[in-house]
Amino acid sequence: MAERVAIDLHVHTALSPCAAEEMTPPAILLQAERRGIRVVGVVDHGTARNAQAVLEAAPAFDVRVLVGLEIESAEGVHILALFEAADAAMAMDSLIAEHLPDRPNRVDVFGSQFLMDVMGDVVGEDPRLLSAAVDLGIEEIADLTAAHGGVAVPAHIDRRANGLLPTLGFVPPGLHADLWELSPNVAPSGAREMWPELRTRALLNGSDAHFPQDIGAVATRVSAQLAEAPLGVVDWGREVARELLGAAG
Ligand SMILES: [Zn+2]
Ligand SMILES: [Zn+2]
Repeated sequence: MAERVAIDLHVHTALSPCAAEEMTPPAILLQAERRGIRVVGVVDHGTARNAQAVLEAAPAFDVRVLVGLEIESAEGVHILALFEAADAAMAMDSLIAEHLPDRPNRVDVFGSQFLMDVMGDVVGEDPRLLSAAVDLGIEEIADLTAAHGGVAVPAHIDRRANGLLPTLGFVPPGLHADLWELSPNVAPSGAREMWPELRTRALLNGSDAHFPQDIGAVATRVSAQLAEAPLGVVDWGREVARELLGAAG
C-alpha cells in the first residue's frame, strides 16, 4: 500500500482574535513539521494579511503551505479560501475587505489581531472587526475564491456554530466545492451516516487549530505522492477529492 501522510488545511495565526499569540508563522510550520503534517493550510478570519509572512517562512520547513482566509458568509457559515501564492490570497483579502462590516475590533472582548513578520515578531495589529459575517452568500464566496485561483472548502460543516449543515440544514445546490471539511468531532464515515447527502462528497478533517498543540490533532491522510504532487492548488484539491472519494468507495 502506498505511503499515506497527513494534511491539515485549517490552522489559524495570531491574527485571528481567538488564536494564541504563539501562533506565529515559524511556530505553526515547526509544529506542523513535527506532527508529520505534509500540507498545512494557514488562514485567518476575514483576512490573509499574515499569508506573506507564512509563505516566507515556509522554505525552512518540510511542509507544503497553502494560505488564505476563513470567511463568514451572510448566512453565518464559515468557508476556507485557500491559495498557494500571497498575491492571490491578498486579492481575495481586498475583495473581502469591501464586504466586512465597518466596525472596529474590540480587543477587550474578542482579543488581539497580530500582524507578524517571517520571524514571528509582531509588526502591527489589524484594527478591523474580522470575526464578522460579510454581506456575500456562501455560493458567491465559493465562486469568487475559484475566480481568484483558489480552493473553497466549506469549514467544519457539521459544527453547530457556523457550520453549513446545522446552520442551513442542507447543502445549497449552487455551492461549488471539491473538498468539504469536518470538525475534529466526527469522522467522514459518521458524517455520511448522519447526512446522506455527503455520500458523494469528498470529506476531510481539519484541526481548526488556534493553539500550537492543536495543529494536526485531527488530520486527513492522503498518499504521499499526491501530497507532494507538483500541481497548482486547484488541480491538487481536485485530485485530493478524487482520492478521498475513491478511498470512501
Ligand atoms: Zn470557523
Ligand atoms: Zn477556523
